[in-house]
Amino acid sequence: MRRECKACGAKVLNEAAVCPACGAELPKKMKLLPLAAFMLIVILVIQAYLDKPEPESAAPAPAPKAAEQQPAP
Ligand SMILES: [Zn+2]
Repeated sequence: MRRECKACGAKVLNEAAVCPACGAELPKKMKLLPLAAFMLIVILVIQAYLDKPEPESAAPAPAPKAAEQQPAP
């Protein structure tokens, strides 16, 4: 597969980083899949971090039933 250099119009290889004719930098094809996977992992990590409060510091208020079940002395 080939594409054209936007600077000089020469046909260049798809994987070429610079135009062999004029030396202009060729835009790299965006690799969306690794980027999407990376973003997905980041989002999952952030969500997991936000969902789980730190066990030592952020203990939610205990359920009221737990106190009621304690036998009175
Ligand atoms: Zn060129």
